[in-house]
Order: sequence, then structure tokens, then C-alpha cells
Amino acid sequence: MIGIIGGTGLGDALAGCLADVQTQTVNTPFGKPSDVIHIGKLGSNKVAFLNRHGPGHRFNPSSVPYAANIFALKKVGVKTVIASGAVGSLRQDYEPKQLVLVDQFIDKTFRRQNTFFDKLGAVHCELAQPCCGPLRKQLSHAAKKIKTKVHPDGTYVCMEGPQFSSRAESMMHRGWGGSLIGMTAMPEAKLAREAQMCYALVALVSDYDCWQEHHGQTDKQLLIKEIIGNLNTATENAIALIKALLEQGSDLCDDGCPCRKTLELAVWTKSDVINARERQKLAPLFE
Ligand SMILES: [Zn+2]
Repeated sequence: MIGIIGGTGLGDALAGCLADVQTQTVNTPFGKPSDVIHIGKLGSNKVAFLNRHGPGHRFNPSSVPYAANIFALKKVGVKTVIASGAVGSLRQDYEPKQLVLVDQFIDKTFRRQNTFFDKLGAVHCELAQPCCGPLRKQLSHAAKKIKTKVHPDGTYVCMEGPQFSSRAESMMHRGWGGSLIGMTAMPEAKLAREAQMCYALVALVSDYDCWQEHHGQTDKQLLIKEIIGNLNTATENAIALIKALLEQGSDLCDDGCPCRKTLELAVWTKSDVINARERQKLAPLFE
């Protein structure tokens, strides 16, 4: 079963595309996820869908229960996650309405739970390639079947928010080599790696970040409308991409993928000092 985490844009749109939907309420040692998990069919594939921001866009990026979300998806049997999220572009050639298959992150978040293992001990996961290589390759392949431009890679700078960047920050993020700015991919991608899941992120470009003076619409209301319009188009493009991916029929759940064996060498704490009850609580992550 493929897990889909819908961010701004995709969150509401994709739930409407699923057939034979059942909802599942899941509890985790890290509290409740953002929403019930919708399990249904997209084409002929079974998917588990979770709306990252919850019903009515309840959670802001800092308060999204990322740990509960990833744990809940793992608990219902998801091993492969495709996430989406709205982003601002830091590069001229990454244009609004286009999609980006993110391959790298710069994590600037500072008030979110970013590990499952605080009570277990010292667990150090490999993160040089934070998104699953084989899954990104399959998404790139599927991208050839849709009309929109899909960039094969991009560095996503994840900021805490909820305010957007100042112009000086936006220029700095460009100087760091960032392609995109967003608020939700971290610690989600890190937690997916800790949960030994394959994770890929499809970023939906809504507009250029403020490094670029806006030359089009100057009326604030109309500008917001323009950005929402871009996001709606990007959302349709993302749904087309996910459908094309699932129609390929290739196995997205290869147990041989290195993502699935992350914890084999990551636990540095000696097994005889690990709290057995804590280890038991986290059992789904080790599966
Ligand atoms: Zn993988």
C-alpha cells in the first residue's frame, strides 16, 4: 500500500479522487495524526491518504503532528510515501504551476519533534540522500507521461514559519543553493527515514519567493487569487503525476531498498541498556 501525504493544495483535492474509501482512526505513542487515514483505491492501486494539515487546514506547519503522521502510516502498513507540498521558487527556471521532485533539503526548523528515539537512546540515521532514489526515478519516468514540466531535482529549504521570508533571507537561501522554500517537508522526511520508509516529495510551485519583485498583479486580493490559481493548476498536475506513477504498475515497494534497512546500523545505544518497554512501543518502526 502506497501512502500519500497531501499538503496545501493536494490535501482536499486528492481525497475526492479515491474510490471505495474507508477511514481509519489511528492512535500512536506520539498522539493522534492530523486526520483520519483514508484508505481507498486510486486507479487499481490501494493507497492510504493523509491530509497533512488536517480537516479545514487546522494545523500550521509548526503544529503538524509529523511524528504521529509517519508512525500512523507505518502502523497501517505503508512502506512507501509520496508527499506533496506547496513551495515558493528560489530559481527563475522553476516556474509557478510546475512540479519538482525534491532530492535535497536544508532544514532550518527549530520547534518540531524531529526524532522518534529521544526516549530510546542514540539513533543516528544516514541522510545523505534524504529521498528514496528508486522512487524518485520512477516518478521521473511517470513525469514523461504528463503534459506539465517536472524538474527532476531541487533543494528544498525548510523554514519554521509561519511568516514568509524577508527579502534578505530569500536572497540568502538562493545563495545557499536552494531551489525551493517551504515549511512542511521537515522533519517529515527525516521521520520517514527513521521509520525505514521510502519517501519522495513532489513540490508544487505556487509563486516566486520574495527575492523576485512581483511584476504582474499588484492588487493584494488579486495577487492571492493568482497564487491560489497557480496552486490549483499545480495540484491537478501533481494528481496526474501520481496517477501516471501508479498506472506504471511497477513495484514501488521493493523491500531491498536501502531505505527499508535504515535502522540496521543506526542504533548506537547498547541493547542491554535500551528500555524494553520503549522498544516495544516503537516496534512498528523496526518492522
Ligand atoms: Zn527507498
